[in-house]
Amino acid sequence: MPEETSKKTVLVVEDNPINMKLAADLLELHGFTVLKASEGETVLHMLKTQRPDLILLDIHLPGMDGFEVFRKIKADPALQRIRIVALTASAMREEEQTIRGLGFHDYISKPIDTKRFVQKIREILGQGMS
Ligand code: MN
Repeated sequence: MPEETSKKTVLVVEDNPINMKLAADLLELHGFTVLKASEGETVLHMLKTQRPDLILLDIHLPGMDGFEVFRKIKADPALQRIRIVALTASAMREEEQTIRGLGFHDYISKPIDTKRFVQKIREILGQGMS
């Protein structure tokens, strides 16, 4: 049922307020439930009570970076199945390899492409396949 599957929850982790607003607005506009966090400690705290279907994780965060947040989430058996997508500024080759090597589900480059962003999220959640 499209109505059911579109009600997925995405946790957006982003410390830049403009990028956060853009991502959250686009997702909410398309029927997703959006949770927000701007730093890693908050994410780990939220995951004690929340189970998003997908985490959109900025790599460059104050304090704990996205790689460390990723490792901590994946180290918890209860959280391992949550899909995690890296959100990264113009992925440098080296960073892209680290992202792939760590086992991120996918990555999305910033600046966010407003035309493709939601489609990509849907594909990652298995909703965009035809
Ligand atoms: Mn950032």
